[in-house]
Amino acid sequence: MSAEVNDHEQQRNPELVLADFHNCQQGVLPVGPGARSLTEFFAGIDEKPESAAAAPRVQRGDRDVLNLLARGAMVLHLGPANHCWFTNPSRALRLKSAGTPAADRPLIGMCDSARCPQATRHSCHQPVRAEHAERRT
Ligand code: SF4
Repeated sequence: MSAEVNDHEQQRNPELVLADFHNCQQGVLPVGPGARSLTEFFAGIDEKPESAAAAPRVQRGDRDVLNLLARGAMVLHLGPANHCWFTNPSRALRLKSAGTPAADRPLIGMCDSARCPQATRHSCHQPVRAEHAERRT
């Protein structure tokens, strides 16, 4: 089962990360405790020269950008109301409280996206969050 989940994530994640990257380029920014790290990561990719000798800015194709975004795709996990960028298990709030800070996957079902520095929320999460807010009122 875990291998199937990993395969699915490896196929799905690059496209999701690319969509997040394009959204950022267009000014549709993520929110949440991890938003700043993510936008800085994307900005670094945007600024990377095509090659060491490339002075003029060159428009990259999605394939080139995907290669640069691969690190993000490898650590992305999806929660119902947020993205989890699982770059550092020792920063994962729920793993700390569960006493398993070295785990190789987040406890996404117990995510504390309001406080975890690896959590971001995107426009695609808005309907879930609106529904949640409505149920609470
Ligand atoms: S609390 Fe949420 S965002 Fe943070 S590591 Fe766990 S699942 Fe990921």
